[in-house]
Amino acid sequence: MMVLSFAKDVLVSLPSLLRGRTPGQLIIQTTDFCNATCPQCGMRKQEDFKRTRLDVDAMKRIIDRGAKNKVKALSFTGGEPFLFQKDLMECIRYGRDKKIPYIRTGTNGYMFQNSNKQGFVEKMREFAKELKKSGLYTFWISLDTWDILEHEKNRGLDGVVDGIRTALLVFREEGIFPSANLGINRTIVKKKIGLTSTSSIAEREQFYEAYVEGFRRFYEFAAGM
Ligand code: SF4
Repeated sequence: MMVLSFAKDVLVSLPSLLRGRTPGQLIIQTTDFCNATCPQCGMRKQEDFKRTRLDVDAMKRIIDRGAKNKVKALSFTGGEPFLFQKDLMECIRYGRDKKIPYIRTGTNGYMFQNSNKQGFVEKMREFAKELKKSGLYTFWISLDTWDILEHEKNRGLDGVVDGIRTALLVFREEGIFPSANLGINRTIVKKKIGLTSTSSIAEREQFYEAYVEGFRRFYEFAAGM
């Protein structure tokens, strides 16, 4: 069914594609609040600045405009979009009702912490059902590296990988298949290597090989989760 609707969307978009135009994507940055500590990010929680968020009415007005312009994809980003889950879910459903086919959002995974607490599985089931009903097309979970401790240290989210594993079992039962969102950064390789304009061919090759190996291990790890 999903393949058929994708094929239909491709056909509908064909005239634009032939004119060299890709189907439009609307990205709404819902907030710059975040509860993670990623060193590469200016929105990490330890940064001291005045944080903001879009209210539901503002997001709906943006979605209306996107729907009028026939965008095919609508993405909600942050910060951490799920810090304001009620508003986020309302806007996802609103986008669905406006017939935007590919609605996407994701999380740094903070809700998967404390998975050994009583009621975690039930909470995840409820969460999965809500995602399923909302019309969300893609749900991503950030993952920085195959090295569990490194990932959790990077994000400041202890125990999150165990929780993701448990939640994935529940999600599959509910028909939700999250994707791993990899930020391409230094955590993918273990060695400290860098390139400059004067790097030799041997150094460039070493850099290339290290990243190929990093990606290989990452995908192996993510696929095995
Ligand atoms: S989770 Fe995303 S928004 Fe938050 S600190 Fe990390 S990279 Fe930044």
